[in-house]
Amino acid sequence: MRIKSDDLKYPILIGYPTENGKQLAVWCPYCVRYHYHGNVEGHRLAHCKREKSPYNKTGYIIKKADNNQMKFKNSSTRSIDNAIMREEGRNL
Ligand SMILES: [Zn+2]
Repeated sequence: MRIKSDDLKYPILIGYPTENGKQLAVWCPYCVRYHYHGNVEGHRLAHCKREKSPYNKTGYIIKKADNNQMKFKNSSTRSIDNAIMREEGRNL
């Protein structure tokens, strides 16, 4: 997703598709739980349980997790390092 300079006044959160793919879950550090939204990227109003959450003032932009972020969630940095080394070795 391309970010426009106007977007920089809003926090950008990574949205992870839920199992049925219909929603995106974004982690909220203010109420310490996931907020669920429809599966569309872009600016959203927060429905944060914590009244003083800055997200309630600005909302936020949801960006879908890309493949690398999905992989990162499911594997350690160690195995990513190994994959890169294998890839480089193949090119020699
Ligand atoms: Zn919240």
